[in-house]
Amino acid sequence: MTMLSGDFSLSMQSCMLCPRNCRLPRRAGSQTYCLAGEQTGVATVCIHTGEEPPVNGSKGICNVFFSGCNLSCIYCQNHQISRNIPRKEKYKDTAHIVYTIETILETGIPLVGFVSPTHRIPQMVSIIQMLKKRGCTAGFVYNSNGYDKTETLRLLEGLIDVYLPDFKYADNILAQKYSDAPDYFKTAMGALKEMYRQKSHTLIIDKDGYAAYGIIVRHLVIPGHVENSINVLRAIAAEVSNRLHISLMSQYYPAGLAENYSGLNRNISEVEYNAVKKEMDALGFQNGWTQNIDSAGFYHPDFEMPQPFKRI
Ligand code: SF4
Repeated sequence: MTMLSGDFSLSMQSCMLCPRNCRLPRRAGSQTYCLAGEQTGVATVCIHTGEEPPVNGSKGICNVFFSGCNLSCIYCQNHQISRNIPRKEKYKDTAHIVYTIETILETGIPLVGFVSPTHRIPQMVSIIQMLKKRGCTAGFVYNSNGYDKTETLRLLEGLIDVYLPDFKYADNILAQKYSDAPDYFKTAMGALKEMYRQKSHTLIIDKDGYAAYGIIVRHLVIPGHVENSINVLRAIAAEVSNRLHISLMSQYYPAGLAENYSGLNRNISEVEYNAVKKEMDALGFQNGWTQNIDSAGFYHPDFEMPQPFKRI
């Protein structure tokens, strides 16, 4: 643990935590790409349901949503918190966050998920360390956009129980256009290989149906880009394994700035989604989940609300 703290305090002076390598100090006023300073940056802690069956379990997961992001996806479904940092922190300090998590875990939920943690890894590690010190036995889920640095992920070995990364693009032109990350494919592939080195393809599910160890890779199909999705699946099968668990998502809707982009201002069609599902089968992926084509209507979080995922 001391080693982790030492490495991360260096990162806070000249941040190279993620592939952006800003080399800026993480303090108020620094123009960091991810908008993060040195604060904890937790936007909300809440129970989240409706995720993949082993993430959702029977009671949902306790998710910790960080503000800011190291990608700028124009269709971001969490855009209220990914592109805005509230002036005032909602939680006083790490102890307050830990207390909120513990209160949720008392309901019997055994998993804590960290959403968009890449640029807040030191803060995430502090939360985990404090929880463990206080006797917490929950599992920890690292739910990132896949744009992670291999060297940083290596420092998380043994600390994270389940990796839940996105794998968004095989096409770097798309990655540049929609997420401002022209090196996304190589970076995300490197990150996935490191996660695989740590966990392999085995996904261990506990007696209550919750993931206890392993990797689940998420891929969101975006409208008009079936080929990108097919190439993502092909690359994972060829370079990592077709035994990985894949969550193939149809829940795209034109969130954030996507309404202004022709082609992205619609949901995906059934024909598009079925073409990707067909390729997933052809490549021999047998582990994972798909969604109903109408799922786009169910995932519209509102981070202005105390319970962002509660449907009215
Ligand atoms: S975590 Fe943020 S400040 Fe650090 S390198 Fe990445 S984008 Fe830059």
